[in-house]
Amino acid sequence: MIQIASDLVKKIAEERNEILQIIPLVWEYQPYNAKLIPVMGPEEKYLGVWSEEKTPIFKDPWFESQKFYNNFSFTIYPYSFENYQLLSQEILSLKPETCGVKPSFGTGDRLGLVSAAHLNVLKKYEVFPIIAQQSPRELKKTGRTFQSVLLDAAWGAFASGYQGRFGADADHIKEEFYLQQAIHSGYSFYTLDVSDYIEKEFLSQSERDLNQAYQKMNPDQLVLLKRYLDRSYSLGDGFRLSFNEENILRIVLSLYPVLGFIDQMNSILDERLANYDLEISLDEGEFLTSNQTHFFLSEELHRRGIDFQSLALKFPGSFEKGIDYRGDLSQFQENLRGQVLIAENIGGYRLSLHSGSDKMTIYPTFFQETHGLFHIKTSGTSWLKALEVVSVFNPELFRKIYTLSWESYSENSRDYQVSFKIDEIPAEIEYLPDKKLQNFLKNDSVRQLLHISYGSILKEYRKELYQFLFDYREDHYQRVEKNIENHLKVLTGKSKNSKSFS
Ligand SMILES: [Zn+2]
Repeated sequence: MIQIASDLVKKIAEERNEILQIIPLVWEYQPYNAKLIPVMGPEEKYLGVWSEEKTPIFKDPWFESQKFYNNFSFTIYPYSFENYQLLSQEILSLKPETCGVKPSFGTGDRLGLVSAAHLNVLKKYEVFPIIAQQSPRELKKTGRTFQSVLLDAAWGAFASGYQGRFGADADHIKEEFYLQQAIHSGYSFYTLDVSDYIEKEFLSQSERDLNQAYQKMNPDQLVLLKRYLDRSYSLGDGFRLSFNEENILRIVLSLYPVLGFIDQMNSILDERLANYDLEISLDEGEFLTSNQTHFFLSEELHRRGIDFQSLALKFPGSFEKGIDYRGDLSQFQENLRGQVLIAENIGGYRLSLHSGSDKMTIYPTFFQETHGLFHIKTSGTSWLKALEVVSVFNPELFRKIYTLSWESYSENSRDYQVSFKIDEIPAEIEYLPDKKLQNFLKNDSVRQLLHISYGSILKEYRKELYQFLFDYREDHYQRVEKNIENHLKVLTGKSKNSKSFS
């Protein structure tokens, strides 16, 4: 049946001038006594269906055969959102599920091509896989939607025969518009990014200005202030947390709008969904999250009946995309210990590490100190693996991509915090021999440049890149798998922290 489908798809593809192949895998589709075979091209995805039924199983057939094999006919349907919804009503494992407070690992897949590779690795570890994970910023740059991201992730499960569970994270939500879209698409995990709602000026204002602000506080804010003022909490391990006039005043003034935003988004989620995971993220703010800020926020959310499963703090050191941690490891560890104590005392949620791509230096510490109460997000590292495949098998395309990235640096660096200087790396790399390109990609500045340029690269070379990665998908999968596996090994202590992973 697989062979017949394969020959048939080849013939249809030729007739319609398309590039299509089947994935040699059959899903039994019980309610219709049908058999499903994934069919795909560089960007298109279809459901191949062997069935004895006369009535269509999915919507808008793209190709229909007459009786073809015994009594079975073969139909190809587009893998549209509507058809995905029908499919996942029967194959429930294709629907994202909530994770709760289990240890979890997120792998954003910007190109929507490697969720199968991610699942292949994640299923071997005791982490709940979050394989759809994109922010509105990434959606804009890649020209995708919450729906298409979820479709691609679920395809990874479908096309690899994965029957376990997975989650879908609508990452860095700052507006109701995107929240509604993600809810409509069926996401299981919602990350509220509060960075725009922090009144930052109160964090650095002089005491005199603070006192003036105090005079203007509303009754709600005054209640918050009194609740914590001059209180001190003992959290075990000799760790004490104290609020004085100055720190609580800064916290209440700066976080008051944050509480309002979370409350509002959470009531929308409550209204529309029976189950969901909620994460609050502070990681993209400018200021380190103090212990007091963490304590106050968690306490106040619980007081309002807002149950959240993870919290992303801003830790000391720098967490730039696609490269290792830069900073003082012992300072990170000490800070983390305090934050973990707070989280364990308050209870009910995990600490979440964002920009977790390639942060090998801190992985073992993060894993050990959080005692299993963690979530980690990675994304850029898998994108860079795609470019690595290009550098090895299509040096010409890689050089073009590099030059474009260099030229569009000023536009792309507005959206991401990166520390490298553009004039420290070459504007073009014609002089580099092919076999040196892969090594060139290990340079931190080059990694950062290519990381932030994905929007520009896709705008210019989308078709070429997808076509190439389709032809080299085995190699692409293998490299992505090996890289994510290295992340998991270093995290869980199954491998020495080593730079050779990249
Ligand atoms: Zn983040």
